[in-house]
Amino acid sequence: MGSLLPDLAEGESGAVVWHREHLRTADHPAVAAAAERADVLVPVFAFDPAFYAGDGLACDSRVRFLHDCLDDLDRQYAAAGGGLTLAHGDPVEVLGSVLDAGWEVLAARSPTGRYGKRRDERAREAGVAFVAGDGLVRDTDRTRENWQERVTDWFTGERYDPDLGAVRLATPETGVSVESIERRYDVTPEKEQVPTGGRAAALERLEGFVDDIASYPGSISSPLDAREGTSGLSPYLAFGCLSVREAYQHVHASAPEGRAREMFTSRLYWNRHYEQKLADWPGWLDEAVNPELRGFNRERHDPELVAAWKRGETGYPMVDAAMRCLAATGWLNFRMRAMCVSFYFHVLQQPWRVGADWFYHHLVDAEASINYTQWQSQCGLVGTPTLRVYNPRKQVRDQDPEGEWIRRWVPELEGLPAEHLDRPERTPLSVQQECGVRVGEDGDFPRPVVEYEPAVEEFWRRYDAVKPAAAARLGEAEIARRASLSGGIEGAERIAAEHGGEGDAAEQADLAAFE
Ligand SMILES: Cc1cc2nc3c(=O)[nH]c(=O)nc-3n(C[C@H](O)[C@H](O)[C@H](O)COP(=O)(O)OP(=O)(O)OC[C@H]3O[C@@H](n4cnc5c(N)ncnc54)[C@H](O)[C@@H]3O)c2cc1C
Repeated sequence: MGSLLPDLAEGESGAVVWHREHLRTADHPAVAAAAERADVLVPVFAFDPAFYAGDGLACDSRVRFLHDCLDDLDRQYAAAGGGLTLAHGDPVEVLGSVLDAGWEVLAARSPTGRYGKRRDERAREAGVAFVAGDGLVRDTDRTRENWQERVTDWFTGERYDPDLGAVRLATPETGVSVESIERRYDVTPEKEQVPTGGRAAALERLEGFVDDIASYPGSISSPLDAREGTSGLSPYLAFGCLSVREAYQHVHASAPEGRAREMFTSRLYWNRHYEQKLADWPGWLDEAVNPELRGFNRERHDPELVAAWKRGETGYPMVDAAMRCLAATGWLNFRMRAMCVSFYFHVLQQPWRVGADWFYHHLVDAEASINYTQWQSQCGLVGTPTLRVYNPRKQVRDQDPEGEWIRRWVPELEGLPAEHLDRPERTPLSVQQECGVRVGEDGDFPRPVVEYEPAVEEFWRRYDAVKPAAAARLGEAEIARRASLSGGIEGAERIAAEHGGEGDAAEQADLAAFE
């Protein structure tokens, strides 16, 4: 790989901006700071082998989405007379040579966990400067007082739009390209309906969404309507093609006041709320936030049940459609994600992290901060009293009564009359024969892998036994802080009501259809 450093003229200073998930130039605190401080700017993205080797952390469709974003970022810099420089290798080693040469390296600060956290700690030690500007609160006392006001100030505040005309953009030749990386790691996306990555596509999606924002509230719950009816911005926000603040400001400037705008912007607060949680406690990715709930379901680990859930062969049509849709497209609406989590943890009673890692691998919009914290919230690992168990049969009746979505993903049920879709195993044999759908025979739609009612009863018995101890632990300042609660259970309830947090009370109020 060629050097990252271009020649500097006498007296010139140079800076590298290390792009990670903030794949844009607009509203980018590190790009803005570098453009102000240095004469020469080299924007760099380093392909980290840790993300590509073996099965990788991300499915190939997410990797392709990332690569689209990089092509687009290159075009953003090209519009300002430069380009994006690509490198390959451990980013801290790649950047080490730049720091050794006396250049500044800046990156946008964002919360990370596991590998990303260790990498960022090494980078910080090596001299990388992390520039804050993501709206999160990082005061040392870590309380949540005035959190919403502070985030509102950030949402409505001035953006970090850099003056790229004031700096010389350099693009040293490294010999690394998106194509060479795709060849090297045999990137073969297999999912369908995955949008094209990049800022141009993000802006187009945002504008299209605002034009039709009135239909948003009615489109959120049903998986049939959500794919077109919600903003579809999540992968773009996850890779930072667009900042959450840009989305907020655009919608405020262009969409009429009213319920739809309110509902959408409240979800942008949830985005910050979950990101804040990871900033407050990186352990969200690894262990139950409430120590009393650690290891819950661990001794019940049954790889066959987990495999049936992953393959979408549990015998519950809505769960199976959702799990197949996740694997095939890398996206599900909120309700289907929450239902699959609930089924996995409350009905199959399997250890949460195995399931959360599966989601993280497949979601094109995977955000560690939202995925793992939502998993813990939906499972009930925080220990707040607002736990919901979703009944997947009720979800059929409420969200897909004609079975249009189910039949799309579970073709074995194609001919089954709609009234049997919530419990195909109860379809009389005569009806099965007539419609040509057999349940429970080899190669056909399976019988339920577990019986719903006794399983849920058992879950509640086990969960209720630990709940008082878990609630008591939430009263401890350190645990409450980890869970981003400013006042134990009362704080939890308040935050839930304000930001759709634990148990998603706000979602519940909006949609009022949980069971
Ligand atoms: C178990 C589970 C895992 C999830 N994992 C992710 C994830 O990895 N990445 C992700 O972006 N979202 C995740 N979500 C939240 C939500 O399902 C998605 O943000 C949403 O479905 C994305 O579609 P959209 O952009 O069209 O949503 P819209 O309804 O248009 O929302 C706009 C944006 O608001 C934010 N948002 C919406 N709902 C939530 C929420 N409940 N919590 C936090 N932020 C929210 C997202 O940034 C989203 O892009 C998860 C939810 C659950 C229950």
